[in-house]
Amino acid sequence: MNNLWTPWRIEHVLGKAPQPDGCLFEPAGDCKSDKKTLLLYRDHHLVVLLNRFPYTNGHLLVAPIRHISCITELTTAENCALMEMVKHATAILKNRLKPNGFNIGCNIGAIAGAGIADHLHYHIVPRWNGDHNFICVLADIRTIPEHIDTTFDRLLPDFLNLHITPA
Ligand SMILES: [Zn+2]
Repeated sequence: MNNLWTPWRIEHVLGKAPQPDGCLFEPAGDCKSDKKTLLLYRDHHLVVLLNRFPYTNGHLLVAPIRHISCITELTTAENCALMEMVKHATAILKNRLKPNGFNIGCNIGAIAGAGIADHLHYHIVPRWNGDHNFICVLADIRTIPEHIDTTFDRLLPDFLNLHITPA
């Protein structure tokens, strides 16, 4: 028997991120990036956020702008833009954080482990050899803010430099 490995269930286990008003995947305003909400990138199709409750360092979330819950509701343009961004974001993580591998996927519905089930989002989880012990680090919640801010600063310039032709 093989185990299905689902690190993004951690958002379900740990509970939702403390949110301002409204949906986590719809940061207020129209700025392209915002450290406060861990927004690394935004265009008219999608947002890229750092997960406030990461399974590993650099755990990214890619979501469509529209508040929809399933990939079946995506337009072709949205779907293409999302998959292109998953590719670009993975390339940025590879280049900056040098992981040994990735888990990439999405949970559709609360039963599947989605922490925020009503707004579709893809997880990109960089993996390092021996990173299973990261959960022990996570338990020390005080260490997370500095950690995330540092990662945000390391990744942001690459997202600012992305030149994506609008579809
Ligand atoms: Zn939403």
